[in-house]
Amino acid sequence: MRFEIVTIFPGFFTGIFENGIVRRALAEGLVEVGIHDLRAFTHDRHRTVDDRPFGGGEGMVLKPEPLAEALASLGILPKTARASADRVVAEEQNPVKGTGFSPYIESAKQTGALAPEGCNPGESHSASRTRVILLSAQGRPFTQALARELAGLDRVVLDRIVLICGRYEGVDERINEIYCDLELSIGDYVLSGGELAAAVVIDAAMRLIPGVLGNEASGEFESFGVADAEIATDIEGVPRSQHGAGGLLDYPHYTRPAEFAGLRAPEVLLNGDHSQIRRWRRQQQLLKTLANRPDLLENAALSKEDRKLLDAIHETGN
Ligand code: SAM
Repeated sequence: MRFEIVTIFPGFFTGIFENGIVRRALAEGLVEVGIHDLRAFTHDRHRTVDDRPFGGGEGMVLKPEPLAEALASLGILPKTARASADRVVAEEQNPVKGTGFSPYIESAKQTGALAPEGCNPGESHSASRTRVILLSAQGRPFTQALARELAGLDRVVLDRIVLICGRYEGVDERINEIYCDLELSIGDYVLSGGELAAAVVIDAAMRLIPGVLGNEASGEFESFGVADAEIATDIEGVPRSQHGAGGLLDYPHYTRPAEFAGLRAPEVLLNGDHSQIRRWRRQQQLLKTLANRPDLLENAALSKEDRKLLDAIHETGN
């Protein structure tokens, strides 16, 4: 998987991918990051990348021409051209299904998924394995589910994700219309540029790419993780007491010493009874989610036992 970042501040990324899991993934060649200076695609003395907004108003807007050139230099076609390339691939692969191929963009918009129907995950360097993302406060919220999609855990294994970092008032909207598969926001606040957002998206997606996290951890067992039923590995009998979060928040973690500042780690975690530990952790997940993110409970994968516990909490009020 290769991430391409288009930015007017390439220096922003110095050091950002040089620590921990990300550094290891890059060193091992599991992922690659390319950083592209937008000013390299200007042709005037001042290397101008912005201009005043049509219609007046505050600030400046990133001009479309340098961005289009930067994307062309990466071999990125307008999304309509990518859709027809995909259609050809899909029809060659499966002539019957190919006739019902939904256009790339429409599929992404309707399902919220990044994958066009009928695309071919096995096709090397196919347009269907590239996504272009515009970082924008106006975008669709970035979630763990989207990070999983980008990491290729759902539907399509991608081989390239291009991230366009806006600055000033943003990017000329025609770039979004012509090239971008997805407009993505990392939260309900306004950053001064898309660079931080790009780093967030890359970090969250990259760590989920198979092989990046070691055996010691897995994205399935963390906050917002999948339900038990979706976990492929056999966890029966293994004290992997985490188990799938099913969309809930993670439970609290403790390590040595057993007593710290007069507070003892929960006794249940010290007694080695894995079924009790698992039950306790599940309860903690529910309590934490209820306290901090009750909205997540609406779509979480909850068992009968989970619901009983939540009902009991509602009844007693704590
Ligand atoms: N005028 C824009 C608005 O009100 O939505 C804000 C532009 S912001 C100052 C400049 C750039 O920062 C945006 O083009 C985008 O690339 C990035 N940005 C700001 N907030 C973001 C967010 N929450 N998520 C992702 N990118 C963001």
